[in-house]
Amino acid sequence: MGLSEKVQLLGAGLYTDIPDVLTLSSIPTVSELDYVGNEDFDKTMLDSILPKAVEEKINFRDLLEIDYEWICRCLRILNYGPYFTTNMVLCPTCKDAVRGREQQVDLQTIDCKPLPAGFTNDITIPAGAFIDYKQDVHMHLMTIARVIEMNNDKSFKLADGGVNSRLARACYCITSIGNHTHMTPVEVKLELSKNFSPADYLILADEVGRLSDYGLRAAGRCACPVCGNKEAAYLALSSDRFFRPSVGDLRAWGQARGERGMEDLRRYTASAVQKHS
Ligand SMILES: [Zn+2]
Repeated sequence: MGLSEKVQLLGAGLYTDIPDVLTLSSIPTVSELDYVGNEDFDKTMLDSILPKAVEEKINFRDLLEIDYEWICRCLRILNYGPYFTTNMVLCPTCKDAVRGREQQVDLQTIDCKPLPAGFTNDITIPAGAFIDYKQDVHMHLMTIARVIEMNNDKSFKLADGGVNSRLARACYCITSIGNHTHMTPVEVKLELSKNFSPADYLILADEVGRLSDYGLRAAGRCACPVCGNKEAAYLALSSDRFFRPSVGDLRAWGQARGERGMEDLRRYTASAVQKHS
């Protein structure tokens, strides 16, 4: 299989030990992905699949979260084509989530928001954004290693076993407040609980979400399986399921390749990013 494709990272220029362009090739034909659960997906991807599927030898855990997701999505399209069968579609005409009806969707309808030109990974939330709080807050986009650390951090687990993901994300994204630099997530959490009013905390959490909102969008466009509205949407988070396409998805890809020539991932990677620049 001579399958390979060069993909520019979204965070090109931000890395010291990772080149701006990675060369993606085939994932192993029989791999751990065939039986991995969603909980182990990232670990399997990082430790076993990416080292085999990416030519450059890098520490994949140093990739920004947005680049990790981007590379996973590109690998999926490169190896299995862009089609995916979902059973949950959100339709503006049907006014609700259409569940339990299968719909084949095209992952190339998912746009990707690039980082702004000149972006440096030190984002400031100015003190002026808050109602009472008087200090600037600095944050960064997380690496996938840090996201995994966050997901395993017991100090953000709720009593019911879930995770307070908004608080955890804020505490892991924020690196310094005022003159206090190199803060740990626990130090940030303490500062938020001691010195932020409830209103300022909500503003902060919102800003952290807004200012780190780059990379692949969470949803793509598709037709509604009930009424046919083409403005329906489907949720497309990265997970193990993306690497288990149905045979129908693969056949649709094969047919599309026959009709239009080789589906060009390069065109997708270029156009998905351009739509948002
Ligand atoms: Zn509908």
